[in-house]
Amino acid sequence: MVPLFRWYTRRVSGGRTALIGLSVGELEELLARLGEPAYRGRQIAEWIYGKAVDSFEEMKNLPASLRAKLAESYTVSPLVVSDHRTSTDDVDKLLVHNGDGEVYECVLLPYKDRVSCCISSQVGCPMGCTFCATGMGGFDRNLTAGEIVAQYLLLQKISKKRVSHVVFMGMGEPLLNAKNVVKALHILHDEIGLSWRHLTVSTVGIVPQIENLTELGLPFNLALSLHSPFDEVRSKLMPVNQKWPVDVVMGAMKKHHRKTGRKITIEYLLINEFSDTIEQAKALASLVSGTPSVVNLIPFNYVDTTYGYSRPSPERVRAFRNVLEARGVNVTERVERGHDIAAACGQLAGEHHGRFARRDGLSELPVSS
Ligand code: SAH
Ligand code: SF4
Repeated sequence: MVPLFRWYTRRVSGGRTALIGLSVGELEELLARLGEPAYRGRQIAEWIYGKAVDSFEEMKNLPASLRAKLAESYTVSPLVVSDHRTSTDDVDKLLVHNGDGEVYECVLLPYKDRVSCCISSQVGCPMGCTFCATGMGGFDRNLTAGEIVAQYLLLQKISKKRVSHVVFMGMGEPLLNAKNVVKALHILHDEIGLSWRHLTVSTVGIVPQIENLTELGLPFNLALSLHSPFDEVRSKLMPVNQKWPVDVVMGAMKKHHRKTGRKITIEYLLINEFSDTIEQAKALASLVSGTPSVVNLIPFNYVDTTYGYSRPSPERVRAFRNVLEARGVNVTERVERGHDIAAACGQLAGEHHGRFARRDGLSELPVSS
């Protein structure tokens, strides 16, 4: 028999299908197919998405016979935790897989006023950015919507407080896996109840996919990893710039703003004497002027590349920031967390650094829309 939900789920170890990733409607449909009343689907959704429960045993309002029947063919989460580290500043980094050894990472980030998490959209990444540990490791596969949402639920389970914010800044390029990422965003919003404004998707700038998202018009935050306003610098950092240069990708972001009303977020990586020059600060200010935006400065987290990149001094970061602020740009600065467990952006490389097949041609990108 053709599995009903094969587009949304993956079979996990033991051949059972995971339920995380199914909407309430799909769970109702599944339960009806099993000869159960559809409302059981809603009850299961409440346990999975409302209470972050990950075993059928705990679903106390289901009859024991149904719990046993479900456990024979299904599992709640597709994820197996293979490593869990907690940093001295309270960041949890989890390394997970599906029983198949293809590991990926997610990070829990408690702040004073909120708890955020950083999740992966792919195992590895094919984009080959020259400063990024994930990119250096190559690409394995896209994650399903269930595998994406399951990372959030796993982190919610270990968090003392409600995890209210999600950023897609873990492993992978979310817009190469747009179909599953959008489905995951819907579950995070519609079923788990997170605010669109607290969901942020960071992209390297896959222009046709930005345009598709503009058409969809969902009001989550779209963040562009710009890293330089100059094509010659950006192309050295990010091969994607050869396909969609700065003016093209910024044009797509501005259209997105006009359609959704959401301000543009620009992620800006500061690499010492490379992307952190005063000329680039001035050009960046011009690029965003006239569009409601925020520039998030990210001082380079050290990754051993062959290019000798290093982190700028606090004085250089301040000088760059001053130029932007003097021109009226809203600026935030990323504080590195989880340093002792390598949990920061760009350091999520799993345990398989260099193992994946490297894809060099952008024409081969495994885009799903
Ligand atoms: N692929 C997406 C999202 C994952 S990367 C993207 O590139 O936007 C999340 C963020 O981490 C991006 O802004 C990326 O540029 C940044 N990053 C990657 N390597 C880094 C490093 N070594 N130091 C600091 N930030 C890094
Ligand atoms: Fe991929 Fe983002 Fe890393 Fe670039 S920075 S290689 S797009 S994960």
